[in-house]
Amino acid sequence: MTDSVLMAEMTWPEFEARVAAGAPVFLPVGATEQHGPHLPLGVDVFLPSHVAASVAAEVGGIVAPCIPYGYKSQPRSGGGQAFPGTTSLSAHTLSLVIKDVVHDLGLHGARRFVILNGHFENAWPAVEGLDLGIRELRRDGIDGVTALRLEYWDFVKRETLDRLFPDGFPGTDLEHASLLETSLMLAIRPDLVRMDRIPNDGPADFPTYDRTPVWPDRVPPSGVLARAQGSTAEKGQWLLDDHVPLIAAAVRAEFGL
Ligand code: ZN
Ligand code: MN
Repeated sequence: MTDSVLMAEMTWPEFEARVAAGAPVFLPVGATEQHGPHLPLGVDVFLPSHVAASVAAEVGGIVAPCIPYGYKSQPRSGGGQAFPGTTSLSAHTLSLVIKDVVHDLGLHGARRFVILNGHFENAWPAVEGLDLGIRELRRDGIDGVTALRLEYWDFVKRETLDRLFPDGFPGTDLEHASLLETSLMLAIRPDLVRMDRIPNDGPADFPTYDRTPVWPDRVPPSGVLARAQGSTAEKGQWLLDDHVPLIAAAVRAEFGL
C-alpha cells in the first residue's frame, strides 16, 4: 500500500479503502494564469496542490488531482484575460467540472471534502459547483456529506502579515504575483522563480469598481499588481508554517479527526 496522499498515485482498492475509512478528500482548484515575468503560469496550481498535500499528510487525507483551469482572470485581482497564456473557464463550466468531480468522488464513498482554492476568482464558482455536486448526490440517495471550501491564504496569523508587510498589507486581491506568491514559490519551487526579472511597474492603482473595457494603463504591463521585491524563501516558509497547521486544525475540528 502506497504512503502517498495523492489519489493519482493510488490504486483503486487503496482509494476505496481510504475513503471508506473516512479520509477527507482534498480538491485543489487552480488556474493557468500569468504571474508576471518572474513566475510561471502554474503558480495557482503549484501552491494549492502543495498546501493540500501537506495538510492531507497531517490529517490522513487524499488529494484529488488539481483542477488546472480557473474562472476568468479579473484585472483587479489577476491582471485580466489579455496576457498570453492566461487560459480560463467560464464560471458555469468551472462549476460543472467541480460538480462532476464531487459527485463521482461521493458515489465512490467520499463523505468529507475540502475544496481548497488557489485562485482568487474561483471562489463563487467553487461554491456553486460544490452545492450542485452535493445536491446531485442527495438525489442519488447519498446523504451525510460534509464539505469545507476555503482559500488557503486566509489561514495566516495577523502577526505574520505584520512581519511580512511592516508598511501595511495591501490585501490578497492585489497580492497577485507579488510578495506572498513569489515567496511561496521560492519556498516550494525555487527553480521556477526568475528573481532577476522581478518588475518595478506596480503597484496597481485601481478604483473600487470594475470597468469594461478596462483602461489598459490601469493594469501594470508586467501583470504584477503589487510588489514582489523582498520576496524570500524564508518568508514563504513563514506562510506555509501558518497555512498548513491552521488548515489542518480546521479540518480536524470540522470532521472530528
Ligand atoms: Zn496566483
Ligand atoms: Mn490567480
